Amino acid sequence: MKVIGHRIGGNLVSDESSRFGDVFNPATGEVESKVALASISDVDKAVNAAKKALPEWSETPPIQRARILFKYKQLIEENIDELADLVGREHGKTLADAKGSVVRGLEVVEFACGIPHLLKGEFTEQVGTGVDSFSIRQPVGIAAGITPFNFPAMVPLWMYPIAIACGNTFILKPSERDPSCPIRLTELLEEAGAPAGVLNLVNGDKEAVNAILDHPDISAVSFVGSTPVAKHVYSRGSLSGKRVQALGGAKNHMVIMPDADLDQAVDALMGAAYGSAGERCMAISVAVAVGDVGDRLIEKIAPKVSSLKVGPWDDPEAEMGPIVTKESLDRITTLIGEGEKAGADLIVDGRNLKLQGYENGNFIGGTLFDNVKPGMSIYDQEIFGPVLSTVRVPDYKQALDLVKSNPYGNGVSIFTRDGDSARDFASKANIGMVGINIPIPVPVAYHSFGGWKDSLFGSNNAHGMDGVRFYTKIKTISSRWPSGIKEGALFTMPLMK
Ligand code: NAD
Repeated sequence: MKVIGHRIGGNLVSDESSRFGDVFNPATGEVESKVALASISDVDKAVNAAKKALPEWSETPPIQRARILFKYKQLIEENIDELADLVGREHGKTLADAKGSVVRGLEVVEFACGIPHLLKGEFTEQVGTGVDSFSIRQPVGIAAGITPFNFPAMVPLWMYPIAIACGNTFILKPSERDPSCPIRLTELLEEAGAPAGVLNLVNGDKEAVNAILDHPDISAVSFVGSTPVAKHVYSRGSLSGKRVQALGGAKNHMVIMPDADLDQAVDALMGAAYGSAGERCMAISVAVAVGDVGDRLIEKIAPKVSSLKVGPWDDPEAEMGPIVTKESLDRITTLIGEGEKAGADLIVDGRNLKLQGYENGNFIGGTLFDNVKPGMSIYDQEIFGPVLSTVRVPDYKQALDLVKSNPYGNGVSIFTRDGDSARDFASKANIGMVGINIPIPVPVAYHSFGGWKDSLFGSNNAHGMDGVRFYTKIKTISSRWPSGIKEGALFTMPLMK
């Protein structure tokens, strides 16, 4: 059976791991390969490779680093079908969706190609007589990224292109569920001309994560995953003196006002709730029906949910694929059962879906609940599956209160024709990314991505200028030349004159 190893210092390393995990094809339920699970010493080797590459890489002019990224962009484009297939085969999402996710990651590479401009500093002439001041951004050193299963291409691409463009070297620890695409992306960067050790990849589980968090030579950690692990990463990484950005889970609401274009809202909800089988941190999992819109909404959406086309990743007709693992599928079906027991109305039940030829696959159909209330586990927990809960509220104020009192704060959207309520909502929602008649308001690469509340720990978002800020330290230099004023020895606070 194929064994997926680590990529350290430009070499494939797999023989020293004593632990391995299974990598499944979620459509067939079969183990397709084994993945090495890194030990503390494997992480140490990756750190040594990153350390060795750091002095030369950090001194390479930004324009030369950018040229490698331009080549990388071209290689990703040339290999996009293979990359999308690797995503779909191990994650389960459809090829079209997988390809879209690679393209959204590629946009961050395109952003990072502008690094000479992005790293430009600030200069002030004459802050005092004959004294100039300038601030520059320098790399933090060795950075690491820990990423979730649901975007094996896009989320790693949020991180290392910017980190290495800034002059850092990097260690990626992708999800052990779907490691093949990240490994291929690492190889392509080497092919593009990145010196060995600039980007290293260790596969693994919590042992590798904790080794990264404790390692004294790693200066910055980017994490994307569930909230409990994000909290752990943030506190343990900070404790060992690192800067940490840890993006967590979500429970994203879509508020549908009575005046919304209902056809538009229903189409938007279908894609946002059931695309990628709901395994997106920006998926909409709660529809908030305001005033009298509830009955009309359920009437329009229920038949569409019932007729969702579910299939394997390579079925061009499929609108959504299987769930990543049997454990995730069990969690989702258990939560559906709990929702029913708690008294929510199960309008469409996706359990028991069987696909001919894929009887052992992790398939579930689209599921729709009405009359869901806070306090029910289907409302309170992140289901991360194709389950949409409808909550009915009498007016806009209660919709806003519901959104505001949710502990998560990743994304939210409002569907309305009324500019006043849209503007008020965008201003008052305590959520990091807001859509107005846009169901999944994922910012483009040159803006930054991040939630509020339990959806992000740390002060920097992912990518955009926040990415550049996270992966660099500011240094401010004040200079005077001998022709300037000579003040003699100063024993008081220096004041600029
Ligand atoms: P996860 O938290 O289980 O795993 C994420 C990473 O952490 C993986 O690399 C995994 O190996 C590691 N990990 C898992 N358990 C650990 C532990 N106990 N200690 C240390 N490391 C551990 O998340 P997942 O299931 O892979 O991904 C789904 C979650 O990610 C969802 O909650 C989703 O909302 C979230 N997510 C958030 C964003 C965002 O931008 N906020 C984006 C994508 C996914």
